[in-house]
Parts: sequence; structure tokens; C-alpha cells
Amino acid sequence: HHGGGRVVLAEPRSFCAGVRRAIEIVDEALRRYPPPVYVRKQIVHNHYVVRDFERRGVVFVDSEDEVPTGAVCVFSAHGVSPTVRERAADRHLDVIDATCPLVAKVHQQTRRYARDERTILLIGHADHEEVEGTYGEAPDRTIVVADVADVARLELPRDEPVAYLTQTTLSLDETAEVIAALEERFDDLQGPGSDDICYASQNRQNAVKQIAAVADVVLVVGSPNSSNSVRMVEVAARTGTPAHLLPDVTHLDPGWLDGARSVGLSSGASVPELLVEQVVDRLAGLGFDEIEVVRTATENITFSLPGSLATPRGSTG
Ligand code: SF4
Repeated sequence: HHGGGRVVLAEPRSFCAGVRRAIEIVDEALRRYPPPVYVRKQIVHNHYVVRDFERRGVVFVDSEDEVPTGAVCVFSAHGVSPTVRERAADRHLDVIDATCPLVAKVHQQTRRYARDERTILLIGHADHEEVEGTYGEAPDRTIVVADVADVARLELPRDEPVAYLTQTTLSLDETAEVIAALEERFDDLQGPGSDDICYASQNRQNAVKQIAAVADVVLVVGSPNSSNSVRMVEVAARTGTPAHLLPDVTHLDPGWLDGARSVGLSSGASVPELLVEQVVDRLAGLGFDEIEVVRTATENITFSLPGSLATPRGSTG
């Protein structure tokens, strides 16, 4: 390629508001406390973010039990179960909670439905961190359903008072079928209002679909363990356009671009924009030096930091 190739950038892409906030929280914790700062689980599902923090003095642990008594411990954006909070309190950990406010809202709704004595059907993947946390709010009343087949297997009477909630990293498209099956299956079903749903995944999937329709090949920057990034590749590929996931620019295979005149580019909600910029630079070097942005939604949502970190250090507030 000798120039004249086009990059079609999807908008929105990269960090959702919850991930951006979680990263700001760890940044702020590193500014305030001497290292190490412990973070329970990967703060977000991105190897670059994790490694960068490790270099700067963060120690990632799988369990609060691994954190020394009294140390600073950040909970990740995906949220934690009440049991984790209790165990952290028992160990006198200095907890900074980076749970996304929209995930916290799902926890609240779980508690409310449990109080109302509804059986809660949590749409998501049982082994996802976010689902583990939400499930823990009402383990006796909650059943995780991943798909329509799981709904068919439910051994509950038709008139059982039920409520559904969804894993926030799933898009509306991904949960629609299961919700429809639940509506068919139960007479007394409640669910969250449209204000309580996170649109980040849906927005990114809509945008990637749009660029797949106009580009010859699609690249999605994201880690293989980021389910929303993997899903974006699937959504793009379903339009018939070849699509590839790349953790970062070093994984870009120029062979993917053979014969292409335009390259669609996006990234998952856990991906720093820097990684996208590096791919843009590399693509320019390969002759794709015109940039077009396709925006399918505007995200204005921002979340403030938790109260304990919101005031400048040394300030009396
Ligand atoms: Fe929060 Fe939505 Fe991002 Fe989940 S996907 S962390 S709910 S903004």
C-alpha cells in the first residue's frame, strides 16, 4: 500500500464510564498511599492496564484473603459480593470501592427483589466476576441463566413471582432473546427500567456493526479475556466482513489487510485509547492514512470518584 487507504474509526469505542472511573480511582490511590496498593481482581479486563499498574506499585490479588491485614485494597469495577466486603472488614482492610455505580445499582435491585421475595433470574455467565458479585447479594433467591435453554430448564411454577437482572457487559441484543423467553414463561415478571440499564456494550456493538458495513476488514483492539471485546469481533464478522481481535499493535498482521482499501477500527470498553492510537499510527505506516469517524451514539455519562477520594489530599473538604 502506498497511501490512500482509509481507516474508519468507530465511535463510541474504548473505555466506558465505569472503567474510566475505576482507573482514576487506582491512579488516585497510588498518589495517596505508599505502594503496594492491592487491587482485588484485574481492575478491568485489559492486560496493558494491569501491567502498567503493576509497574507503578499495584499488586493484583484474586482474593481479599491475600491482602495483608490493614492494607489498602481496591475493589474492581465489576463489583463484589457482601461476603467479600465482610471478609475485607474482618481483615481491617482499607477498602476503596471502584465498583461501577451502574453495577452497584444492579446489586441494589437484587436486594430489593429479594426483600420482595421474588426469585431473581440473573442473565449472564455464572463464572463472570460481575455475576459472582451480584449473585452473592441473594444467593438463596438467585438463579443465573445464560441462554434460552437455561430458561427452558427452570423448574419454577408459571405464577412464581420473578424478576430479572442482567450482567452489564452484555448488550441489549444479547439479552433480548432470554428476556423474551422469560416473558413467555412467567406471568409475574419484573425487570429493570430503561434508566437502570448500561448501554456501553450496545453502543460499542452498534458502532462496530456500522463500520463493518463500510470497511473491507475490521480490527477490534481488546484482550482475549475481555468478553465485550470478543463479542464485538463476532458482531462485526456476522456482517460478512472479516474481523480480528488484537490485544495491541504488536499483534497486527499486515496479511489481514491484503487487498483492503479501508480498515474499520474499534476497541472494547476495557481498552485504553492509547492502544488504538498505536494501531492508527501503524496503519498509517502501512498506507491507511485517511481517517474517517463513524459515530452512532454519544456517551455523556461520567461518574464521580468515591467520597473518600474526591477531595484533594490534605484538603479538609
Ligand atoms: Fe459500568 Fe456499564 Fe462499564 Fe459495566 S459496562 S463498568 S455497568 S459503564
